[in-house]
Amino acid sequence: MSTQYSVVGRTAILRLDNPPVNGLGHATRQGIVQGLHRALDSDDVDAVVLTGREGCFSAGADISEFGTPRTTAAPPLGDVIAALEDAVKPVVAAIDGTCFGGGLELALGAHYRVATSGSRIGLPEVNLGLVPGAGGTQGLPRVVSADVAADMITSGAPRTARELADLQGQRLFDRVVDGDVIAAAVELAVEIAAVRPLPRVRDLSVENAGAASMNAVRERLRRRGRGFLAPAAALALVEVAGTTPFEEGLAEERKTFLELMDGEQSAALRHAFFAERAARKVPDVPRETAARTVDTVAVIGAGTMGGGIAMNFLDAGIPVVIVESSQEALDRGLGIMRRNYQHQVDKGKLTPDGLERRMALLTPTLDYADVSDSDLVIEAAFEDMDVKRSVFTRLDQVAKPGAVLASNTSTLDIDAIAAVTGRPADVLGMHFFSPANVMKLLEIVRGADTADDVLVTAMAVGQRIGKTGVVARVCDGFIGNRMLAKYRDAAMDLLRSGATPAEIDSAAENFGFAMGPFRTADLAGNDIGWAIRKRRYAEDPGMPREEISDALCDMGRFGQKTGAGWYDYEPGSRQAIPSPVVEDLLASFHEKRGTKGRTFEADEIVQRLVFALIDEGARILEEGIALRASDIDVVYIAGYGFPRYRGGPMFYADTVGAAQVLARLRRFHEGDGWEPAPLLVELAAEAGTFN
Ligand code: NAD
Repeated sequence: MSTQYSVVGRTAILRLDNPPVNGLGHATRQGIVQGLHRALDSDDVDAVVLTGREGCFSAGADISEFGTPRTTAAPPLGDVIAALEDAVKPVVAAIDGTCFGGGLELALGAHYRVATSGSRIGLPEVNLGLVPGAGGTQGLPRVVSADVAADMITSGAPRTARELADLQGQRLFDRVVDGDVIAAAVELAVEIAAVRPLPRVRDLSVENAGAASMNAVRERLRRRGRGFLAPAAALALVEVAGTTPFEEGLAEERKTFLELMDGEQSAALRHAFFAERAARKVPDVPRETAARTVDTVAVIGAGTMGGGIAMNFLDAGIPVVIVESSQEALDRGLGIMRRNYQHQVDKGKLTPDGLERRMALLTPTLDYADVSDSDLVIEAAFEDMDVKRSVFTRLDQVAKPGAVLASNTSTLDIDAIAAVTGRPADVLGMHFFSPANVMKLLEIVRGADTADDVLVTAMAVGQRIGKTGVVARVCDGFIGNRMLAKYRDAAMDLLRSGATPAEIDSAAENFGFAMGPFRTADLAGNDIGWAIRKRRYAEDPGMPREEISDALCDMGRFGQKTGAGWYDYEPGSRQAIPSPVVEDLLASFHEKRGTKGRTFEADEIVQRLVFALIDEGARILEEGIALRASDIDVVYIAGYGFPRYRGGPMFYADTVGAAQVLARLRRFHEGDGWEPAPLLVELAAEAGTFN
């Protein structure tokens, strides 16, 4: 049964019961209407309380029904809501916990609403590239005012019932309680049982619908919502609510909903959603494999990465031992961690107490023996095989049996690191991204000997600290950085062929990348790649030089930190200003090489960058470095600023078509000896897809 019916006194209780999140699937929708009729037909019932389970009213549509006829089977959610609105006896929604999407729209169909103060209320449809489809854009502005509704619907971010109940003039909640929400709803139902006419959200007027009050939302979308259709559509619908009768607004909302549902962006966002879930499963690891217990963690190295990694665990309340090679480095590392937390306090995101609680969970030490109690050790020392070998030799001596030993290496061979220990089954890679306390992506690198339960432990730990984990096999750069190298090559090739950094960046950013390749390089520091190149030039004097980048670094233009890189920067500003110095540098390069620069359309720039990712992604898939194409998509969305509404590079390839990708790549590479990934050739020939 997906709904349950009972009677308390003269109030019927209709309880949604469709685990795990009370999705409003077909059976549940039917159950609500049947229960409602039963209550309306009963002479022993004066009012109805509609409720969910403890901790979850309803999370909205039942995603397990997506793409099946049950999504649209009668009654649709709109009819269920209309039945509540039209009921001749009062309906009180009793909300505890999650109340999202269709769940909130359902509650807006009730005549009264009671919630526990911590309940989370939201319309997250934009996250799937959609707008609410059952009246949310018309109802919510009527109860919390247009500006608040616009902010909630365009961001998809939930708010607590308490926050919303505190809004001036709100009509969303009649009562917010801290105890038994059903008892409170029954009490209200008894009080208002005889009150007529019954209040309906649709009959209310919309406050704050003026253009001025929407400006903050519009501004946020302009800055952050570039190219993303659903939020802009949602904003327009909230504006409709302010000027149009409810019924017409509903029709408008329906039309927009269906258009978005049929569009590429929503398909891409739904793909991204399911891709993240798929990434949590490893086909050849038995499902019943239990994770090892991780109550304590040790981090080796308190540098850029070690400090950030440690913060993840402190945030999750997990004690961390942090090991350094010198007191000075330890003090510096701890100072930076404290400063990072202090920034959060300054921004009101953390209390001073919270800061102290976190730092108190941290045990700094210079003695490796102090990791002997740790369940998980994550090494983030220098990127040097000799250093890694000596750290893991030491860890093998001091770590307790069964401890998971992880390395945060970006490029080095996990199997070679594991081989210096007597327990290679306990070793794997946990590759975090900088800044490690912020970036969501975690590549979990499975060595040749990594035990199943060690892999499962790393995945579970990643989830516990809020990371998006993706499993990769061992290779240089794993999934993300190996593809990035090809993307960077494509960017440099464009530069050598006559495009400017600003043209390339703006094409990439208009495509939806968080930041173009040259602005990214200026942020990360051009000196890092330069140091690596100089080392390689020394090892192999015949190797081709990266002339333009080397000349840039010769001038000390390392990026934002030196106030100049591919762009100029005003002191204290991160705004990239096209630089006459770089312009001269490029001009003299072309003069010397006789490569009169050509101009590039934005479309071609994007294709050169993104198709390079796709080609390398195909190789990674083929070699088994990634388990599935969608894992590659997750890596690029979570870790590399690839626009989520394009679904990731491999999904994007499927929308463009492998044949088209291949044909363009062949053109771009004419005469340079490049060979396409065999898998790409295969898919192009058979019109196949990666996903
Ligand atoms: P870093 O130089 O900022 O920090 C390394 C720290 O390790 C230093 O504080 C050093 O004193 C300490 N250290 C060195 N040898 C040690 C030892 N034997 N025992 C204990 N501490 C030791 O470097 P980082 O940028 O934090 O990089 C650390 C690791 O993370 C490298 O393997 C790197 O490839 C990887 N990584 C870096 C990034 C990044 O963006 N910086 C991203 C992902 C992974």
